[in-house]
Amino acid sequence: MSKPARRSLERLIEAAVQAQKRAYCPYSRYPVGAAVLTSSGRVFAGCNVENASYGLSMCAERAAIYHSVAGGHDSLAAVAVVGAAAKPCGACRQVMFEFSEKDTQLLLVDLDPATGRRKIARTTVFKLLPMAFDPLASGLLPENPRNLIKRKRK
Ligand code: ZN
Repeated sequence: MSKPARRSLERLIEAAVQAQKRAYCPYSRYPVGAAVLTSSGRVFAGCNVENASYGLSMCAERAAIYHSVAGGHDSLAAVAVVGAAAKPCGACRQVMFEFSEKDTQLLLVDLDPATGRRKIARTTVFKLLPMAFDPLASGLLPENPRNLIKRKRK
């Protein structure tokens, strides 16, 4: 997979910034926005959505990834996460890994809403979760799980 163009990454960050504004986080008061750039160039966003039954809350990263899967995409070129020193939790790292390639970019955007200043840390999903539980290596998934799903439907 080739590296996403700088313009695509700016568009990705902007989508995550907009999603952060829509976060539903009355309990933690910790808004997070995320956006994923699919390998086909589409952008899907998500925000954290909390619930009075705390365990039902969903992180922005997984919301964005599930949004992209529902849109028919299962390969990520890049992920952006926006929040105050936001870093993906362990669950989100594993879900990102499922849909990432070795070079899937991860942009951690620390945004100060008061000043608009931002610091961006860049890494990759694979570097963020070394020794991940790999569904391919474990033999749980064939090389192309989409083919398996299509076969099951026949
Ligand atoms: Zn998470």
